[in-house]
Amino acid sequence: LQNNNVENEPVLAYRAGSRERAELADELKRTAAVTEEIPIVIGGQTIKDGEPQYQVMPHDHSRKIAKFYYASEKTIQKAIEASVEAQVRWDRTPLNERIRIWQNAAELMAGAHRQKLNAATMLGQSKTVVQAEIDSAAELIDFFRFNVFFLKENAKYQPISENPTVTRNSLRFRGIDGFIAAISPFNFTAIGGNLAYTPALMGNGVVWKPSDTALLSNWRIFNIMREAGLPDGIVNFVPADGPTFGRVITTSPFLAGINFTGSVPTFNWLWNEVGKNLNLYRNYPRLIGECGGKNYHFVHPSADVATVVNASIRSAFEYCGQKCSACSRIYIPKSLYEPIKEGLLAERAKLKIGDPTDFSVFTAAVIDDKAFARITGYINGAKKNPKNKILGGGEFDGSKGYFVQPTIIETSDPHDKLMTEEIFGPVLTMYVYDDHDVMKTLALVGSSTKFALTGAVFSKDVNFLQIALEELKMTAGNFYINDKSTGSVVGQQPFGGGRMSGTNDKAGGPNYVMRWTSPQSIKETF
Ligand code: GLU
Repeated sequence: LQNNNVENEPVLAYRAGSRERAELADELKRTAAVTEEIPIVIGGQTIKDGEPQYQVMPHDHSRKIAKFYYASEKTIQKAIEASVEAQVRWDRTPLNERIRIWQNAAELMAGAHRQKLNAATMLGQSKTVVQAEIDSAAELIDFFRFNVFFLKENAKYQPISENPTVTRNSLRFRGIDGFIAAISPFNFTAIGGNLAYTPALMGNGVVWKPSDTALLSNWRIFNIMREAGLPDGIVNFVPADGPTFGRVITTSPFLAGINFTGSVPTFNWLWNEVGKNLNLYRNYPRLIGECGGKNYHFVHPSADVATVVNASIRSAFEYCGQKCSACSRIYIPKSLYEPIKEGLLAERAKLKIGDPTDFSVFTAAVIDDKAFARITGYINGAKKNPKNKILGGGEFDGSKGYFVQPTIIETSDPHDKLMTEEIFGPVLTMYVYDDHDVMKTLALVGSSTKFALTGAVFSKDVNFLQIALEELKMTAGNFYINDKSTGSVVGQQPFGGGRMSGTNDKAGGPNYVMRWTSPQSIKETF
């Protein structure tokens, strides 16, 4: 395999008067003007099953952006059959041919289809232009390019042949015989692309259940892959009711893996079902899950206040705190309490919330009615609890769009649910510790939640940073020093966490592709 170096896709700026801005504005108009009808696609055939469902625009929920159908059990079964059948042929397709399709796709995503992906993400998932560009453009393209690069790097390793004239040893990558179920979330368009297509790159057949609330953007990825040359049946596009989908895939003898990003209860349920059905399967299914977090910023008395404020506002409130990596608890020493509190409140007050297609907006609506109810439930609970004080925000209005104001709460209880449970919304809770209790508070960070996804420490004290690196070692799969807990970049900070945050298989890192192959060692004797 030929090797080339790979670089991250540049993030475009969308300045007033720029070409990309004009193109995006056009595409937003086109996308908003119609309710796109999205079928189920199995083996290249389109199917419209059952009751129609709708994807609405979160910032204006009376507007439908897509109409789609939930696959019935029989249809999901058909998708499994199609991908199992297609996989055999696909796995025999030379790696170079497969790679060419991924490279074509990356070019289409970076060029002709960039603004279609961004428009679908902005309108359907309520992302601002900045948040869409780093997701449905840069990160998505990076996943496609870097996974190809990592595949080539991994393929370079070949076992040693002690006496090559007599024997030769080699290792080849095979797909896993069966199908991979990809179950992807709403919050990153790019994650849908990675979850469904990385197993495919490695020679697998995939049944993809995209999130109902990311349907249009995910559908656009699916079509780009067809245009790039991916044969029918390798990835099947199967929107479905979650429990129905889960039941059908976990009772199929052909289940070879689940590639999942979503909640802990769902992943636990899937894992249990797989356990129950283990005797049914041909393979031990690979279970890969990324399940959320309760991410922290820990501020040391030596920290730079402006850095803490800027990083915390961005991490907690960009995309309404709906990144798995978003900071939702911050530990502040008493000595810095006043300036940090004042800074956070002043910055919070400046944030512009509104229509995601307004290029000056900082953040838009939360994803749907369920998210709105959950987040506002936490806020209302905090209003009634004397241990908690709302310092800023706390207002919400779901009448037109699901809008929740960025909210900052101070708690006197480090074990309050605001400090321990995942809210997945624009709520930042701060806990103030006594400067003498640095070590005690560091211990609290890891012991007070079951998650370990991302975390950040802020300090100018090198000795303290060494201590924090050790004390907080198990509390985050992605650890940041003097920077926000969000914004991992493919190839730079491979992403994933341990404990109940997931299986930590590090999307965007060199080992991820290897999770989707079942390699074969071959010894040839002459
Ligand atoms: N990789 C993203 C980040 O670091 C988060 C991914 C997620 O939300 O699952 O911000």
